[in-house]
Amino acid sequence: MTFEELGLSQPVLQALDEKNYATPTPIQAQAIPLVLQGRDLFGIAQTGTGKTAAFMLPSIDNLRDADRQTPFKSCRMLILAPTRELAGQIAKSARDYGGYTGLKVQSIVGGTSVGKDRNKLHRGTDILVATPGRLLDLVDQKAFRLDGVEILVLDEADQMLDLGFIHALKKIVSLVPVKRQTLLFSATMPQSIRDLAGQYLRSPEHVSVAPQATTAERVEQFVTRVNQDEKQALLDLMLRGRYHQCKDMDRVLVFTRTKHGADRVVKKLGQQGIEANAIHGNKSQPQRERALALFRSGKVPVLVATDIAARGIDIPGVSHVINFELPNVPEQYVHRIGRTARAGADGIALTLCSDDERAYLRDIQKLTGVTLDRLPLPDDFRAVIENAPIVKPKGNPGQAQQGRRAKMVQPRPLSEHSGARRGKPQGSGEQRKRAEGGNHGKPGGGNRRRRNRGGGGRQARG
Ligand code: AMP
Repeated sequence: MTFEELGLSQPVLQALDEKNYATPTPIQAQAIPLVLQGRDLFGIAQTGTGKTAAFMLPSIDNLRDADRQTPFKSCRMLILAPTRELAGQIAKSARDYGGYTGLKVQSIVGGTSVGKDRNKLHRGTDILVATPGRLLDLVDQKAFRLDGVEILVLDEADQMLDLGFIHALKKIVSLVPVKRQTLLFSATMPQSIRDLAGQYLRSPEHVSVAPQATTAERVEQFVTRVNQDEKQALLDLMLRGRYHQCKDMDRVLVFTRTKHGADRVVKKLGQQGIEANAIHGNKSQPQRERALALFRSGKVPVLVATDIAARGIDIPGVSHVINFELPNVPEQYVHRIGRTARAGADGIALTLCSDDERAYLRDIQKLTGVTLDRLPLPDDFRAVIENAPIVKPKGNPGQAQQGRRAKMVQPRPLSEHSGARRGKPQGSGEQRKRAEGGNHGKPGGGNRRRRNRGGGGRQARG
């Protein structure tokens, strides 16, 4: 199957050629012909599956075919996205894919100047990507109207509901013409999303790729049981490549549950000479963009994030996801580890689980049908961290200050152990015994999968 066979126009094919997209992804192969026919669509797919192109490419052609003028102070295609980062990514894709069509693309997100948004939308645009709050601000100020919309896309609809955008969403949809094409994408399918689809879509076609709970099949998943107050020391070991599975760490995304927690982890890493940035809702837009740019370029390859900030971000080359804290919603775990193992690459997810998080771990294993392999703490871990003085670096704690840290934990680098390879619990015989000894440990490192059995994920249940 090629993009040409799906019926896309020459200008779009040319743009795809430049991006070196040779073959449509499964969601693209399913969705593109349906969207080209003007059908409403209910898509179950996550970021990383190619869903942006799945709705954007055929919509660009539909807009070209309809050949209407760009409406004054309005748009022809409206894409609502939950986060600023995702909106930015979608707008960039729209510009890339529509580069030979002459269609105008704009994006508006919170945290930036409303005045500038007003000016840039004054003459209208063909495609607008927006977060709901900012869009409503402009509508309320009568700086923008929604009566020109021909195509409405609700992207990551489940996340929009989680973030409390339901009222904004309802208001926006009520202002969009009834005669329109609506495309709704969601990574999960809770009842609230079915309700939304029932209200807003007309006889929709359903498309779905890899059930939500099994998208992370290429990710090797491990868990280490550790006390909450020892997690920072373990993270430090991991980031120095001195722990199982931590050898080739190219880009590491660390997840905490709270914004404050993310800042604390970054600060403590800085005190130990490891540079990292945090990304969360309390950071300004320029701070978020800077942290992402440094992470993407590999200049600061450790990013500590909360779930909401990281959702939907497409960063190639994330080798490791570390769950410093477990999410209390099991689906969130799947989103987190989905940040790695993108575009056919392998990835590693390491989860630090304290006693009071065991129930969360159980929920995750039930949802995904995967039993995480247990990794042991290094033999001398506790003895050493108890005696370790913390060196407070002078100067900017955010800067890398290798060599200034206390001799905190110095086990033999596990990655140097003979026979070390990805996917296998490594380490000393004693460590291996402990790795394999737990209920969940399994020699060989492959996560045991129990798909199609009880609790095999929302998709299976739905
Ligand atoms: P998305 O799910 O839309 O965020 O896309 C995930 C990533 O896959 C993005 O970096 C896209 O540029 C890339 N991508 C989308 N479709 C294709 C394709 N057919 N071939 C290669 N890469 C693609």
